[in-house]
Amino acid sequence: MEKIKVIEIFSSIEGEGSLIGYPVTFIRLEGCNLRCVWCDTKYSYDTTDYMELTLDEILYTIRNYKNKKVCITGGEPLFNEGFDILLETLLKEEFFVIVETNGTLFRESIENLYTVYNNQIHIVCSPKPFSDYKVDSKLKNYISEIKLIVDEFLTEDIVKNFLSFPVILQPEGNKKRFFQKALDIQKLILEKYQQEVRVIPQIHKIFDLK
Ligand code: SF4
Repeated sequence: MEKIKVIEIFSSIEGEGSLIGYPVTFIRLEGCNLRCVWCDTKYSYDTTDYMELTLDEILYTIRNYKNKKVCITGGEPLFNEGFDILLETLLKEEFFVIVETNGTLFRESIENLYTVYNNQIHIVCSPKPFSDYKVDSKLKNYISEIKLIVDEFLTEDIVKNFLSFPVILQPEGNKKRFFQKALDIQKLILEKYQQEVRVIPQIHKIFDLK
């Protein structure tokens, strides 16, 4: 039976993005193709400290949590060989599946499953400065929201490129100076392009949740 490399599975509330506050079970897969300097989940790659779980073992754990929403995260979940079968299984089990991706990769399984399960898939794409904010051209067709980390690299010009999607600006590490920068960019985007972007901090970090 196929086994999937999993760093951790836990229940919490969604602490980021447009689904903030919902109860969610997180499945953190092993591995990432990027090495962002401010990554807050460095323990998910360059490690042998992962579990190899069958789909049945994963399902048993997440059913116990009772949450309707499951987030496949990482690391970079699309970099993990188990992603396709995990996504398909969760959708068939009628979970609402959030996928957190850095946007650089694509999986045909997303295209195939989307035709049947589009109401159950929510793809959060967070392009990174360390990949020049690259987003795979096929993935673009399936993105539900763009989450941009506001740090020293983000500029209004970069945000402008994503205005065809719902955009969320997330201050890096909830730092005050980046919160102010996010508000400034938000104002500029509204003035110049008459478009609204949202500024949302990471609430799980404010309340010391996982
Ligand atoms: S893409 Fe995400 S998980 Fe990978 S290094 Fe960057 S912040 Fe960390």
